[in-house]
Amino acid sequence: MNEEPRILNYRTPLDHRELTRVTDLFAGRYPFLSITSLGTSILGRSIPVLILGQGPRKVLYVGAHHGMEWLTSVLLLRFVNEFCEYYREGKSLYRVPLPVFWERFTLHVVPMLNPDGVDYQIHGPAPDNPLYDRVLAMNGGSTDFTHWQANARGVDLNHNYDAGFAEYKRLEAEQGIGCGAPTRYSGQEPESEPEVSGLCGYIRFHENFRLILTLHTQGEEIYYRSGGKTLPGTYAAARKISSLCGYRLSEAEGLASYGGLTDWCIRSLGIPALTLECGKGVNPLPLSGFFPIYARLREVLFTAPGLY
Ligand SMILES: [Zn+2]
Repeated sequence: MNEEPRILNYRTPLDHRELTRVTDLFAGRYPFLSITSLGTSILGRSIPVLILGQGPRKVLYVGAHHGMEWLTSVLLLRFVNEFCEYYREGKSLYRVPLPVFWERFTLHVVPMLNPDGVDYQIHGPAPDNPLYDRVLAMNGGSTDFTHWQANARGVDLNHNYDAGFAEYKRLEAEQGIGCGAPTRYSGQEPESEPEVSGLCGYIRFHENFRLILTLHTQGEEIYYRSGGKTLPGTYAAARKISSLCGYRLSEAEGLASYGGLTDWCIRSLGIPALTLECGKGVNPLPLSGFFPIYARLREVLFTAPGLY
């Protein structure tokens, strides 16, 4: 790791502008890395996908569904950066020769699904934002957006998937979560948000993902089942990941068990999916804690594609 180039900056929170700077540097430095986009956010920010490998086994990693959780974008970018450096040199990591990985797998990485929510969390909405008055009202009139999780118009992207949506709507109403909120409002209908519909379209287009791994913060937990359903092989994969990083296996309860990407993959698509709650502390986790979190997840990120 001592030859790691200084592409990533570990001093300031990673917003979409910084994400774009990093992906532009990747594009120049790693001609073998494919970079595409799922589409754009509500406020028109591109949602990039970085693609490692050209093999038949497809795997997807997704970060930053939530505004406070941009640390997951840093984790995924650091991983892609390391992967590219080692691959370029033809090296092996964790007993996996990366050139062989390249022939066997195609790993799609979405570092930041919710660029607008991340931007609100780090900078607050800009005064010229056309939704400014609306989101300020959703935020209780406060200009402090440090605990904002939703997208630009107050929909929590990880409740906008079609997995128990009607049931969630009932629970949401009981809890008094209205039309647009900093967290947990699911939207008018599944996939109403361009970030989620773009990702769902991407997953449907590729059809046969073998594993979808979603990173959130925090809690050091692994979620691997939904709605009482566990897909074949998933428990063993979750156990293996747990043994590598020390995170414990958990099951979502209450509002957290509906409408997420992992829920949709397991319940509706039958695609094995796992959620990792990275790190431990109070969100937003500080960047100063990044390296120990990455160190514990590094082997997971390099080896998870081989678990299915
Ligand atoms: Zn989250």
